[in-house]
Amino acid sequence: MKIAFFDTKSYWVDGFAPLAEKYGYEITFIKERLTPATAHMAAGHDATCSFVNDELPAEVVKELKNLGIKVILLRCAGFDSVDLEAAKEAGIPVLRVPAYSPESVAEQGAALLMAVNRMSHHSYARTTKFNFDIAGLTGIALVGKTAGIIGTGKIGQCMINILKGFGMNIIAYDAFPNPNLGLEYVTLDELYARADVISIHCPLMPATRHMINAEAISKMKDGVIFINVARGALVDSEALADALDAGKFRGVGADVCEKEHEYFFENCENAEKDPTLARLLANPRFLLSGHQAFLTVDALNAIATVTLDNAKAFLAGAELVNEVK
Ligand code: NAD
Repeated sequence: MKIAFFDTKSYWVDGFAPLAEKYGYEITFIKERLTPATAHMAAGHDATCSFVNDELPAEVVKELKNLGIKVILLRCAGFDSVDLEAAKEAGIPVLRVPAYSPESVAEQGAALLMAVNRMSHHSYARTTKFNFDIAGLTGIALVGKTAGIIGTGKIGQCMINILKGFGMNIIAYDAFPNPNLGLEYVTLDELYARADVISIHCPLMPATRHMINAEAISKMKDGVIFINVARGALVDSEALADALDAGKFRGVGADVCEKEHEYFFENCENAEKDPTLARLLANPRFLLSGHQAFLTVDALNAIATVTLDNAKAFLAGAELVNEVK
């Protein structure tokens, strides 16, 4: 199988190249994102492999069909980048990686929590300049505090396990509570009122878009720490920036942001800056990582294995367990 691999970065080559050799697949690593302008680069291949910022609207899917692409491999869980109707019409199956190391994602949430609480990014900035003043770096002990987890799926559960290790009391909200987890589920309002730390782990859908808005924030405790390693648009960034500037939060740690498609995975130092994001980043209590929660050796290996297993199942005519229907 010949795979046209779009939006290639060094870490993807590290994860996929050794494995592809084992499977006997030939991968062309293409730097460009898959878009209407670059779809022609898939010529001569049997499959495309794309990530969250690649674009597969109907016109791309049709072009891929004309170029002889037989299967679309997504090396991520989300499938909002693909026009599924068009893929169905073209008879091209779309295969994804529904889960890969949820621990890795939760661990990045915990890392952000520790950083914004103990100000380790500011500490680093000072000590590397031989400035050992610790004024302004006071945090809180997490033991005995209450963590409110919104979304108790795979990643939310990993986050709960980590926070239990800190000795935190856990309360949770989920649209579909899981009675097998032995958790204290509460309403969102109660979670906002009681939690010292809030971490959100639910999917982005019309129902959850901007669920963390000005009203929700106003119901949270003053001095709360808020963590988002799920999706940027779960949060109304303007409302978040207003509340941060008003001193509402002890800290906000995020791995995602609303307009990340315009910036993430590239060095955009010289690009025009989104004013709301620039405002958030200027606040010393806000810390953003660039959608890297998935970026561990373990997750990359899992993503590569499942993606190439998906290709193998397709070639073998086996059941496509990870097909997006
Ligand atoms: P999951 O499907 O296992 O869990 C999601 C949970 O959210 C479920 O328990 C579901 O019932 C709950 N939920 C659904 N609607 C809700 C609502 N309206 N309010 C509250 N809860 C609701 O998913 P997961 O694997 O735990 O992933 C969670 C999210 O993390 C993903 O949707 C994705 O956006 C994000 N993610 C981020 C990264 C990253 O690198 N930053 C990597 C993987 C996933």
